[in-house]
Amino acid sequence: MVDAIDIEIDHDRNASSGSANYYGYITGGATPAARVANSIVSAYDQNVQIHLPEQSIATIVEDNALRLLLDLLRLDASTWSCRTFTTGATASNILGLLCGREHIINEAIKRHVSRSGVCNGAGTVGENGLLSACRAANIENIQILTTMPHSSLLKACSIAGFGRSCVIDVGVSKESLEIDLGILEDCLKRENTVSILALSCGEVNTGLFTTHGVTEVERLRVLCDNYGAWIHIDAAFGVFARVLENEPEFDRVRAGAEGLEFADSITADAHKLLNVPYDCGFFFCRHVDLSQQVFRNPNAAYLSFNTGGGATIVSPLHIGIENSRRFRGLPVYATLMAYGRQGYKEMLIRQIHFARVVATFIHHHPALELLPEHIAQGNGAGKEIFVIVLFRAKDPGLNAELVSRINASAQIYVSGTMWGGKPASRIAVSNWQVDPQRDLGRVRGVIEGVLSSWSDTRSTDLSVDQVL
Ligand SMILES: *Cc1c(COP(=O)(O)O)cnc(C)c1O
Repeated sequence: MVDAIDIEIDHDRNASSGSANYYGYITGGATPAARVANSIVSAYDQNVQIHLPEQSIATIVEDNALRLLLDLLRLDASTWSCRTFTTGATASNILGLLCGREHIINEAIKRHVSRSGVCNGAGTVGENGLLSACRAANIENIQILTTMPHSSLLKACSIAGFGRSCVIDVGVSKESLEIDLGILEDCLKRENTVSILALSCGEVNTGLFTTHGVTEVERLRVLCDNYGAWIHIDAAFGVFARVLENEPEFDRVRAGAEGLEFADSITADAHKLLNVPYDCGFFFCRHVDLSQQVFRNPNAAYLSFNTGGGATIVSPLHIGIENSRRFRGLPVYATLMAYGRQGYKEMLIRQIHFARVVATFIHHHPALELLPEHIAQGNGAGKEIFVIVLFRAKDPGLNAELVSRINASAQIYVSGTMWGGKPASRIAVSNWQVDPQRDLGRVRGVIEGVLSSWSDTRSTDLSVDQVL
């Protein structure tokens, strides 16, 4: 039995994920099915760490939820043999870098031994540690090559022992997602250096994508294979572009999430566009043995007891950070069973349409500027816009206060960022409840209110000046 606990939430004020008008960060919402399942998870308080098929179906439900996700995202379950739920995209990025670290150093050891014939007591990072494995491979540098990474990737670099300063921008320019292939190859070919290429599939300020189609990612794969590099894709929210089908208005967006099958590991969030309650992310990797080389929880006989011979599901504790874990798979399972591909496609299309009508409003408003500049040039409503609208006020004084003035309305909530060295505002759409027609009126009302109260203050200032 689940006791219902009534918690009153004022949906007009700071209801965060409960409100269709909360556009801060990329917070996501929670579908009714996911909310109910989440309460059941709390009520049963099942710990999902070991595959014990004769005693619990929890790991089976979790794996089914992961398979449903793979299916929704058009990824092949046999390719992504290492799959697990995490606490979020930050944790998934950590898993990706740790698996990548193991792989690139293993490869470097092999290459070093075959080239030099010298084997300085090889070993792996998992068993012998980073220092020993790097010595065996003659590695002096580990670098993460990327464009416009999410801040959590730098955090993951610190945790992985690379250091935040190992991140190298290989973009054609600053604030560009596009990779300069020449710079990339120069970095990859450095002596005594191993690399992970980290692609941003859905950049957090703009919602835009690093690559635009399969051939681009395939080319990166060939390049990385030449130098033994790992490809990790941070697709925290961008991965959901794969839910879209053949609608031409989404061609650009869909192309941004193509080619994931060429990656070694993929990060994604469920508590964002899948709209399940916090916290829930997921991680896919094509190398399940490698993952266990990193995360295996060794020598605990009581944990490997009775895993039901021939287990096809790897116990989650061997492929992720935690041992004890919440039953995160259930809300995902429930919401995917409840709404399916069609339901999720409809929710996402509503969200994209809303982002695009807001972008159009901003683009045509004389006091506002839609960002980044190339989207504005591309005629506003932008076939490129996914779920984030980045903009600023043209008046620098107002722009500095825009986010706080918008949020002071308590009608909508937006978050701020920096773009081109100046403040900018972000409307990040990620809630299933969004309704383009209804919500555009509210957003327009708030922004126009802020603009007119600002120009009122200005004209008052002016008349005071004139009087003096
Ligand atoms: C949100 C986000 C993250 C971090 O995700 P958490 O779920 O907060 O850990 C990482 N990368 C991208 C692209 C994101 O949008």
